[in-house]
Amino acid sequence: MWKAKLSRQMIQLKTADEIALMRRAGLVVAGALRAVRGEIRAGVSTQDLDDVAERYIRGQGATPSFLGYHGFPASICASVNEEIVHGIPLPTRRLREGDVISIDCGAIVDGYHGDAAITVPVGDVSSDVLELLRVTEMSLWAGLAAARLGGRLGDLSHAIEQSLRAHDHDYGIVRKYGGHGIGTEMHQDPHVLNYGRPGRGSRLVRGLALAVEPMVTLGRPDTVELDDGWTVVSVDGSYAAHFEHTFTLTDEGPWVLTAEDGGAAKLAEFGLTVPARGQPT
Ligand code: MG
Ligand code: MG
Repeated sequence: MWKAKLSRQMIQLKTADEIALMRRAGLVVAGALRAVRGEIRAGVSTQDLDDVAERYIRGQGATPSFLGYHGFPASICASVNEEIVHGIPLPTRRLREGDVISIDCGAIVDGYHGDAAITVPVGDVSSDVLELLRVTEMSLWAGLAAARLGGRLGDLSHAIEQSLRAHDHDYGIVRKYGGHGIGTEMHQDPHVLNYGRPGRGSRLVRGLALAVEPMVTLGRPDTVELDDGWTVVSVDGSYAAHFEHTFTLTDEGPWVLTAEDGGAAKLAEFGLTVPARGQPT
């Protein structure tokens, strides 16, 4: 979710101790998403899923960061089908076979944030929608795999776009929303575009933490916000996917704070060897 207006660039760099807290927050988010994923089936309401997430986050001694954020009423965003992001969980919104649902979740540990999202099919969904999910998740990892200490933000944005363009289908890359810096607040500078040119933008330095979140539709990239003041949908009604991770950079490469293994398995698919990391000691 992204509802902040940023004026001048204020990039917060974190110490190793602060990154360790963000790792703890990231693992809480990963666990919450795993718990929610396990409950996704036809008939369940998006409110039920929100309850699962909030219970998990509080059970870990963490705080749901979405709840109350600019008045947002829940601990997750639950965005179904043509809803792209910022869907409000409701007891009346029951999932049906063939739906896809994006679950976006954030948690705070000792003042530090984690933020991640997954899109999950409900039962059997059509093959073009399954492919949309696969392609969107792959673009996120392509972006993460392109990030290096000393590189530029545009390297990452470019890699996401290139990954999405490398298919026969002309996917809609949402331009109005993007990723963000993250730390003592959920949304910080810099804004992270899902398209761009390599070698441009902010320098990728030690202590930077970013949430990267491609949002992609099967149709046009144009979006509109519904009257509830939150839910963002595709204008043409096409289905959307949204995947997100929070990461930082080390000498060994990207460290994906919201992935339970630190990103090791997925980054290996891009030829990157990074240490598999478990719980912080
Ligand atoms: Mg985010
Ligand atoms: Mg998010």
